[in-house]
Amino acid sequence: MSKSNKTVPKLKFNEGWSYAPAPESASHVKLQDRYDLFIGGKFVKPTSGKYFDTINPANEEKIAQVAEANSADVDKAVKAARTAYDKTWKKIPAKERGKYIYRIARMIQERARELAVIESMDGGKPIKESRDVDIPLVANHFFYYAGWADKLQYAFPNKIPRPLGVAGQIIPWNFPLLMAAWKIAPALACGNTVVLKPAETTPLTALKLAEIIQESGLPDGVVNIITGFGETGAALVNHPGIDKIAFTGSTDVGKIIQKAVAGTNKKVTLELGGKAANIIFDGAPIDQAVEGIINGIYFNQGHVCCAGSRLFVQESVYEEVLQKLKDRIETLIVGDPLDKNTDVGAINSRAQLDTINKYLQLGQDEGSEMFQGSCGLPGKGFFCKPTIFTNVAQSSRIAQEEIFGPVLTIQTFRTDDEVIEKANNTPYGLSAGVWTDKGSKIFNLTTKMRAGVVWANTYNKFDPTAPFGGYKESGYGREGGLHGLGAYLKL
Ligand code: NAP
Ligand code: MG
Repeated sequence: MSKSNKTVPKLKFNEGWSYAPAPESASHVKLQDRYDLFIGGKFVKPTSGKYFDTINPANEEKIAQVAEANSADVDKAVKAARTAYDKTWKKIPAKERGKYIYRIARMIQERARELAVIESMDGGKPIKESRDVDIPLVANHFFYYAGWADKLQYAFPNKIPRPLGVAGQIIPWNFPLLMAAWKIAPALACGNTVVLKPAETTPLTALKLAEIIQESGLPDGVVNIITGFGETGAALVNHPGIDKIAFTGSTDVGKIIQKAVAGTNKKVTLELGGKAANIIFDGAPIDQAVEGIINGIYFNQGHVCCAGSRLFVQESVYEEVLQKLKDRIETLIVGDPLDKNTDVGAINSRAQLDTINKYLQLGQDEGSEMFQGSCGLPGKGFFCKPTIFTNVAQSSRIAQEEIFGPVLTIQTFRTDDEVIEKANNTPYGLSAGVWTDKGSKIFNLTTKMRAGVVWANTYNKFDPTAPFGGYKESGYGREGGLHGLGAYLKL
């Protein structure tokens, strides 16, 4: 046998070659240069006359100008929602409410491609995620809650479900249109009217949804969408005409909101931050687990409240798992969000990239070891390499605080009890993952881990029928499923 193959260097997966670009076309996307506020079924100019830019984080170019709503605009929007609630929405038969929501769901499906491209342009997430995950889930949420509109008495037997009135809804930038769907669909199905404020860096798909809602013929004022900054959100929270606040965002802002509504009759649900544990036991199918870990933290650049940002590996398989993770990171493609090959897109904003970089430095200062793939990064835009930290202490800030970026900390464990204790040892409790071949371990861990969602042998799976929400500083209240209806009803 020839010995010559000894001299052939072993090539890594994509060493020396790369995929040809496969950009998704944006030529079909219709965007205006400037967007007004959607109040009472019409696009109206902001009282202040002020607009701000929303940019594409992958190239730092301006996409459009968006209106800045002040407290006078918030007041107009809340009044429009109240009028719509009193005059039309609470009076029409539930079955008719359902028909409007179905129509919105179908229009979202018809315009799925355009919405996916805009989501990737405005927020930086890879097109394969906005196309295959976000937008289909958005349509599914509207379909699911449309079905409940005329069946609320079956959802809550022996109770008389009544709407709350006007809901103020505030959402973050990581799943812009999906968070809008999570908020609007159940609120409408239950007979409420809404005022929604999207995040300042990702307002465009919510404004496209406003166009869809206008075209759908939904009565004027049932849904109002107002853009702006934190102050706009605060004005909405503090408006006396609001019956319910639904907030998704950071724990810090959640605490401010909780204080603001204390002593009022406003109902509140808060979906806040997370620091999820993903746990691999020695009997787990390692290759699948590694794929799940990669998906759990690098998916959407780690801009996921339930990102599996803390990995716990049973000692006996630690070396194997670490090597496989490093090999897989080398194959991830970081870059243009509109390229269909891209795995990791752009960080949502310069501010968020600065936060992530601060934690990368902090992790090294704390004595942890940092590993990053050897891929290059685009010269323009906000990008971060997928990162692993090993040699991480339980008390390290990178293991305790939400980084909200593509950064994974790895720790080891020996026994079930040890890993349960470590996994629960954070202020958060939103989600977790368990990888094992033993059902008994899954049951043991899921009953003892204080997390709203625990995935077993999979990660980051969402469905409109499943409730989602947190323990501890991850918030309270549930969205999705039957629980999501209860949050918008007086029972
Ligand atoms: P954020 O800073 O709390 O902002 C969320 C929303 O609140 C934005 O629309 C923001 O407006 C607005 N806002 C800011 N200050 C406000 C105030 N004082 N009063 C009322 N509204 C105010 O959070 P983010 O950085 O956008 O999002 C990331 C966070 O969301 C992470 O912590 C993540 O874990 C969490 N998250 C949780 C879930 C969940 O379901 N549990 C889901 C997704 C994200 P501006 O955009 O203008 O600042
Ligand atoms: Mg943007």
